[in-house]
Amino acid sequence: MPIEERVLIAGAGPVGLVAAANLIRGGVPVTVFEAGPDLSEESRASTFHPPTLDMLDRLGAARPLIAQGLTAPAFQYRTRRGGVLAQFDFGAIADVTAHPYRVQCEQSKLTRILYHQLRDKPHFELQFDAQVKDVTQHRSGVEIAIERKGRSETRPGRWLLGADGARSDVRRSLGIEFPGFTWPERFLVVSTPFDFRTVIPDLVAVSYVSDPERWHFLLQIPGLCRVMFPVAPHESDELAVSGDFAQSLMATVVPGVSNYEVAHVTLYKVHQRVAKTFQCGRAFLAGDAAHINNPLGGMGMNGGIHDAINLTSRLIEIWHDGKAEGELERYDRQRRLVTLEYIEKQSIQNKRNLESDGATSAAAWRRSRPTSGAPTSTCCGCP
Ligand SMILES: Cc1cc2nc3c(=O)[nH]c(=O)nc-3n(C[C@H](O)[C@H](O)[C@H](O)COP(=O)(O)OP(=O)(O)OC[C@H]3O[C@@H](n4cnc5c(N)ncnc54)[C@H](O)[C@@H]3O)c2cc1C
Repeated sequence: MPIEERVLIAGAGPVGLVAAANLIRGGVPVTVFEAGPDLSEESRASTFHPPTLDMLDRLGAARPLIAQGLTAPAFQYRTRRGGVLAQFDFGAIADVTAHPYRVQCEQSKLTRILYHQLRDKPHFELQFDAQVKDVTQHRSGVEIAIERKGRSETRPGRWLLGADGARSDVRRSLGIEFPGFTWPERFLVVSTPFDFRTVIPDLVAVSYVSDPERWHFLLQIPGLCRVMFPVAPHESDELAVSGDFAQSLMATVVPGVSNYEVAHVTLYKVHQRVAKTFQCGRAFLAGDAAHINNPLGGMGMNGGIHDAINLTSRLIEIWHDGKAEGELERYDRQRRLVTLEYIEKQSIQNKRNLESDGATSAAAWRRSRPTSGAPTSTCCGCP
């Protein structure tokens, strides 16, 4: 089969669509294959960190995202009994980012913004109901097998990006291992329209509250507060998603306040896994297909967006300037190292800090992150 001069992307999540947007901006034709009938509505990531906003700005997507989200110029680390342990003010890094704040906004808003901007571009194509099932590689191209409403077809391209999430078919088809572990506890997210600032006056939009038994975090998005708790292994899924169980956890947040209005309850299994490699010939992995971690610190999607920008910026240079394709090996070296040494370690440490008593977490906090002055890195690692 002749090569089609375009990049193929599996998955129209935030990582696949950021990759597509950067390629289109760089003049590289793209086809995205999305298994679902539409863009996902699932409520998952809602935190965008400063370096990610800087990247999205270059794609013209930061401004509409900020308009639909909530700007959080600071976040807190608290204990259940002692109140605020530390507050990190993003103003401290205003010299290295044009966006010295977090934006709290659902990831489904970003995918819609990007799709809206891309859909009429001449070299952009998105096919729904198209599940990438298999990958074959040649010396100068790739060929993918797609299943669409029970029918199979193939499509050739120059490179393939697997941005098809944690259960990636691309990763499986390439035979890339995904070692790591699954935490015994699950995480429960309870969303409520209740405004916690009416009962905790010094609360900011993002607050992590440590406790050895029932840590939680409070994360404001427009119109809702998302409260996340751990659920012990002995508590069944059925119990965990029941209204009474959610109310019993919510009643521990502020003494004397109970019977919350609950908008959604969602239970998640939580993993820490990194693919053995992010590249196999002309095929690459990015985002959850390449790495997954617990959501404490909001580094999964942010890290995936950084993967997408790193890889596609290299592809654009090769496409136009004829740079050697060996350059692409740096993608795996750089992003896998950042994932292993930073995202995985920091997200595990964030969980440990929340599970500790106040004194231990205060010490850990001071060791890991200054409360004044710029942090040592502007990568997306803010807890
Ligand atoms: C409760 C929770 C809170 C979180 N909060 C944050 C946060 O605040 N900040 C943060 O950075 N991260 C957060 N995360 C993680 C974040 O949601 C993920 O890292 C992010 O969704 C990864 O994006 P992705 O595009 O790689 O994959 P996905 O969002 O999973 O998108 C993959 C897409 O590929 C499609 N697909 C799957 N298989 C195929 C196939 N074979 N062919 C074609 N298409 C396919 C899927 O339908 C989907 O549309 C959170 C996660 C959870 C569970």
